[in-house]
Amino acid sequence: MRVGKSIYLDHQATTPTHPDVLTAMRPWLTEAFGNPHSSDHALGWKSSQAVDLAAEQVARLIGADADEILFTSGATESNNMALLGLARRAAGKRRRVLVSAIEHKSVLAVGRALEEQLGFSVEHIPVDREGFVDMRALLDALDEEVLAVSIMAVNNEIGTVQNVARIAEVTKACGAVFHCDAAQASLAMPIDDLTSLADMVSLSAHKMYGPKGIGALYLSHAVQPRIEPLIYGGGQQHGLRSGTTPVPLCVGMGAAAEMLRTEEITAKRSELSLRRNAFVERLRRSSWPVALNGPSSLARHPGNANIHFVGFSAHDILGALQPHLAASTGSACTSGTPEPSHVLKAIGLSGDEAESSIRFSLGFDTSDEDVEAAVELIGAALEKLSAVEQLNLV
Ligand code: PMP
Repeated sequence: MRVGKSIYLDHQATTPTHPDVLTAMRPWLTEAFGNPHSSDHALGWKSSQAVDLAAEQVARLIGADADEILFTSGATESNNMALLGLARRAAGKRRRVLVSAIEHKSVLAVGRALEEQLGFSVEHIPVDREGFVDMRALLDALDEEVLAVSIMAVNNEIGTVQNVARIAEVTKACGAVFHCDAAQASLAMPIDDLTSLADMVSLSAHKMYGPKGIGALYLSHAVQPRIEPLIYGGGQQHGLRSGTTPVPLCVGMGAAAEMLRTEEITAKRSELSLRRNAFVERLRRSSWPVALNGPSSLARHPGNANIHFVGFSAHDILGALQPHLAASTGSACTSGTPEPSHVLKAIGLSGDEAESSIRFSLGFDTSDEDVEAAVELIGAALEKLSAVEQLNLV
């Protein structure tokens, strides 16, 4: 997929909105503009039905009931609401929260707020070289003082797919609530059994060919009474998240969720992973020293390739590739901050190694030609950078 002059290999930062999603949204941005909470007229009822249908569609994606889905502004809000909401209403001796060392910043930053504002103790569970949670460390940390465990299903930088079933089992055995950030999982794998494992699940529409500005939080029936809202107001969405629900965005997220449940998606995921493997293989066969960060196993996001370019600066490579190729150093959410990725550090890379690493993320719309052209562009960029380096040495 090309956008203007750029080959787009940054799908884990955001996916393009699928044309069918846009088609589904359009009427709700134009003539069908009624407020879904206007209960006195037919225009309002129509919008309300559209939101209900969208909630059903999102619920089906993860095996939930529609009244267990809350629409939020994205996975950042969902993560905040899950952990802050639970902690603010928690009473009793459960004052510890466990998160993995490679969670998204929207979980890690909430963890800091829980410590600083609410006096919780938040512990980071280490991961191995491939990003898998150290189960021994998790088991050792779990006890009857743990309120919640928050571990993502699929990592946004290195694509590690956690053993969520096992994590859920041990978490539940100690009576803690299990929250799973599945923002990167919906595109990577089937997640229709996720709600049988997790009590709270975060999703983001713009990571699954839906629009930006909308996400969802699954809260099981059992956990809902334990959540304090973050946003107070008119009591919309079961009194848990006030504010007028954005109908076009909800409809878009629902349409994206339906798309991910179609039969072709399994074939698309396999094609995606073959293409990603071809990309990595081509880079490995080049004369440049490259290494793959993260899991080598099948338990990896099918579009993710996090590559360490030994001896080069990721920032310089991406600079040299502009405007021809879009990819990121670390995750988009950490780009702009000078420190190296906490995920790469957690899997044991040095600061220098982390700063030499680029996340390429392919999508369903990436073609074989894109892969070919990207490898050539990267080779040319490395060539150019080493020529400059040679000149500087002279
Ligand atoms: N969690 C993960 C794993 C993510 O990859 C992201 C997006 N980078 C988020 C949460 C935040 O999602 P949003 O952009 O919808 O707030």
